[in-house]
Amino acid sequence: MNVLDSELIIATLLREGFTQAESMKKADVILFNTCSIRQHAEDKIYSALGRLRLSKEAHPEKIIGVMGCMAQKDNAQIFKRAPYVDLVVGPGQIARIPELLAKIRAGKGPQMELSLERRGRGRHEVEDSFDFYDPMREASARQNPFMAYVRIMFGCDQFCTYCIVPYVRGPEQSRPVDEILAEVRQLVDQGCREVTLIGQTVSKYHDQPSGTRLSGLLEQCERIAETTPLERIRFVTSHPNSMTPDLFEAVRDLPHVMPYFHVPAQSGSNSQLKRMNRGYTVEKYRDVCRQILETVPGAAITSDFIVGFCGETEEDFQQTVELVKDIRFKNSFIFKFSPREGTKAYELWEDDVPEEVKRRRNNELLAVQNQISTEESAKFVGQEVEILVEGTSKSAMKLPVLNGAAEFPEAVSDADPTIQLTGRTPCDRIVVFDGPRSLIGNLQKVRITDSSPFTLFGEI
Ligand code: SAH
Ligand code: SF4
Repeated sequence: MNVLDSELIIATLLREGFTQAESMKKADVILFNTCSIRQHAEDKIYSALGRLRLSKEAHPEKIIGVMGCMAQKDNAQIFKRAPYVDLVVGPGQIARIPELLAKIRAGKGPQMELSLERRGRGRHEVEDSFDFYDPMREASARQNPFMAYVRIMFGCDQFCTYCIVPYVRGPEQSRPVDEILAEVRQLVDQGCREVTLIGQTVSKYHDQPSGTRLSGLLEQCERIAETTPLERIRFVTSHPNSMTPDLFEAVRDLPHVMPYFHVPAQSGSNSQLKRMNRGYTVEKYRDVCRQILETVPGAAITSDFIVGFCGETEEDFQQTVELVKDIRFKNSFIFKFSPREGTKAYELWEDDVPEEVKRRRNNELLAVQNQISTEESAKFVGQEVEILVEGTSKSAMKLPVLNGAAEFPEAVSDADPTIQLTGRTPCDRIVVFDGPRSLIGNLQKVRITDSSPFTLFGEI
């Protein structure tokens, strides 16, 4: 979500005549796009702001802004903790950043723009004015010009008891199908070969007027792929409760839709799942995974887990370990529970699992997952896989958006030396291999010769 928001902000500012600075030191405007999912993410921003204090004193004309979920959550507190911040903008108002920057530059003082302050607990009480902000896409603002995220849903209404997202990203809303398809077409025109449809619960996608669900949307994206260079369509994140056979069948039947499902389980214990308000049992979760693999054999399933949530016993945790061992996820993202003020868990229960126990469970679950990932990766050795080549292994691994770094393939020439390239399999496994730069942005068959838990190595 934040990668996409950053791209959109960069694109807007480029159109306003800004250019990307080479470093923070040289920048006139510094914007932090923040996350508030865990305390750690917020602490990092406050320390980064702290490091800018002296520089702002020396250069008062530098504009410092905080945007995104932490801006929404902490709002005016940010000005208290870092009085030299000029701009605080919630995730629903990023379209207004250019106008707010102009006001600050005109000497109108610090600006704050939020629209989700009056939020009910456990449900959304007010109709928020959330700007639908996916304007013209701009390839040079993307980390990789061949791959782009497309927002299909805003917000979330699940209200998992540990989670801050519904409070900072607003109510769940599906974007109209036509708007999404127009954006996909625009991205393809800009050279995109892969689009990932994103939302907090994409399997709940429902365009009310047309009745289109995620499976129908994938079908319409497939129609675009049939007649254009669009090669791959992905979607994240799915919620087990809204994954129905039509979705699995769409993935099975549509050749451009990749066999990859990110379905966070969060825990393998029914009492913890209940406390988390996830709305499913572990039996239901296992059944969803079974249906996925029955319909789409060989599909990759990945998951998220929280360890050390309020009241988690050793037995609860062992049930999570069992689930990971049984499903054999391609990969799991494992998080130590971080209490978030404003959530139901924060209000109702003590954060009672000691830090060292959280750490131990985190490491134990990681070790189990790593072992599985190692074994699953090794199965690819000797196989031929089709990969979409993303870039040189250095450029593809680079994460922070800086300077657009658009790496378009140069025309094929005799002098196209072999370099180390990277790309992904349909199941989203990273493959590193040697080949000419001209392959970047294209599909390529590669034979896998070696593997590590999270990377495959191959040759053309
Ligand atoms: N909408 C997605 C998840 C978005 S948040 C879903 O429901 O699956 C990404 C992940 O962060 C979650 O899946 C969860 O594992 C983790 N997370 C959310 N809140 C957290 C918290 N308070 N502490 C630790 N991890 C958390
Ligand atoms: Fe958070 Fe749950 Fe919504 Fe995911 S589904 S964003 S975990 S509230």
